[in-house]
Amino acid sequence: MYDRFNRQIRYLRVSVTDRCNLRCTYCMPEEGIKLISHSDVLSYEEFLEVIKAAVSLDIDKVRITGGEPLVRKGIVSFISRVAQIAGIRDLGLTTNGVLLEEFARPLADAGLHRINISLDTMDPERFREISRGGDLARVIRGIEAARNAGLEPVKINCVIRTSTEEADAMAIREFCSRNGYEARFIHQMNLEDGCFTIVENGHGGDCRNCDRLRLTGNGKIKPCLFSNLEFDIRAMGIIPSLEAAVAAKPEKGTVNTTDFFHNIGG
Ligand code: SAM
Repeated sequence: MYDRFNRQIRYLRVSVTDRCNLRCTYCMPEEGIKLISHSDVLSYEEFLEVIKAAVSLDIDKVRITGGEPLVRKGIVSFISRVAQIAGIRDLGLTTNGVLLEEFARPLADAGLHRINISLDTMDPERFREISRGGDLARVIRGIEAARNAGLEPVKINCVIRTSTEEADAMAIREFCSRNGYEARFIHQMNLEDGCFTIVENGHGGDCRNCDRLRLTGNGKIKPCLFSNLEFDIRAMGIIPSLEAAVAAKPEKGTVNTTDFFHNIGG
């Protein structure tokens, strides 16, 4: 599919849940969030239907995200069903790594190609602060498990506040180069203010080359992270909402006042 600006749309990011087992300060308010009600969350069958329809429209790259995708029950068998869809050349998952020690091998066996793990600091105390309670050692064991399971290249997503020269970012870069992981640096964004920049060492944030659509856990196709536009698959049907999202894809992101990172998947 091509949009109005001749960008080929090949990438679908799927947020399978808005639930998360961390509470990162820049992603979720401390008091928690208004969760999508269980009856509104798409079933795995529905997600599969949307992914198959997207692949029939030439999407060939799919990323599973959240919330935290590994907290949703049945995620491994869902991944194995996605992996069986002919036409997907790149199947990835983004996780905070908390549950990866137990899930890395089953995910690789299910047919997942590769994984991105979010990690912003190598300091256990800072990690506890940023994630409001997370255990850094557990995430590091999860990252090692991913590499041992062959989910390579293992990419580390690091949110930075000012620059890649800040102490946390430098420690992440050193950790990655010592262990053969790829570090990507994402400036902390603000959806409401429309504040975003290009991901360093990655692809996100570059509107001219944007090739993505997003599917939220409650069945909305979003053509752009920084826009309120969304197309409801339940109201419009799957193919029409995918096509409408591509047709309406804005040239550039502006602001998003209706979503949060935890429901749209970052
Ligand atoms: N729970 C998974 C994880 O931690 O990777 C997947 C969902 S999380 C919302 C996806 C990505 O969004 C993470 O890398 C996270 O750091 C990023 N993210 C969340 N809030 C952000 C913000 N305000 N600015 C930049 N990136 C953000």
